[in-house]
Amino acid sequence: MQFLYLNLIFMNIIYIQLGSNMGNRKSYIEKSMQQIEQEIGNIICSSKIYESSPWGVSIQNHFLNSVIKIESELSSSILLKKLQEIENNLGRARKEKWGERSIDLDILFYNSEIINTENLKVPHPYIQDRKFVLVPLSEIDTDYNHPVLHKNISSLLKECTDTEIVYEYAI
Ligand code: ATP
Ligand code: CA
Ligand code: CA
Repeated sequence: MQFLYLNLIFMNIIYIQLGSNMGNRKSYIEKSMQQIEQEIGNIICSSKIYESSPWGVSIQNHFLNSVIKIESELSSSILLKKLQEIENNLGRARKEKWGERSIDLDILFYNSEIINTENLKVPHPYIQDRKFVLVPLSEIDTDYNHPVLHKNISSLLKECTDTEIVYEYAI
């Protein structure tokens, strides 16, 4: 009984963005979700998969993106390490910034914490600028309050000036 109680107290609620624009993109998203469940924690809910053109660069394959909400006992720094291990397992090569990638796993929110270390910025600094993040996020938690901007996801999406089209992936 006491163990159960402690377990509840130490569960962190985390939102993660998954993106792929190389190879079998849907399979990379699905495999990373399986590995997250095995290595990191329970997936509470996941958005649909969305497709959009790449953000910040033009001549690349379109991205598939999804956002998941998970619960995990891991600290934020261990979580980042585990996500990078999963990226590596799935063949992610670290080349240029915003380059093509089999899988990209970003921490969007970690509870309501504000983290600003060299290796980890949470909330992820570009959430409010990216429709491919805001659209799936609003699908799973439109009322979630951004702990720095103090606005919910629905407001951030309305105010977002990103012109990229984000559409549900049908296949
Ligand atoms: P962007 O951050 O604009 O989405 P990216 O995902 O392409 O860019 P990466 O090359 O995947 O960038 O990661 C670069 C570094 O970003 C990582 O080594 C990691 O230490 C750091 N980083 C900082 N904040 C985060 C975060 N919230 N989630 C994941 N990585 C982060
Ligand atoms: Ca990213
Ligand atoms: Ca990343």
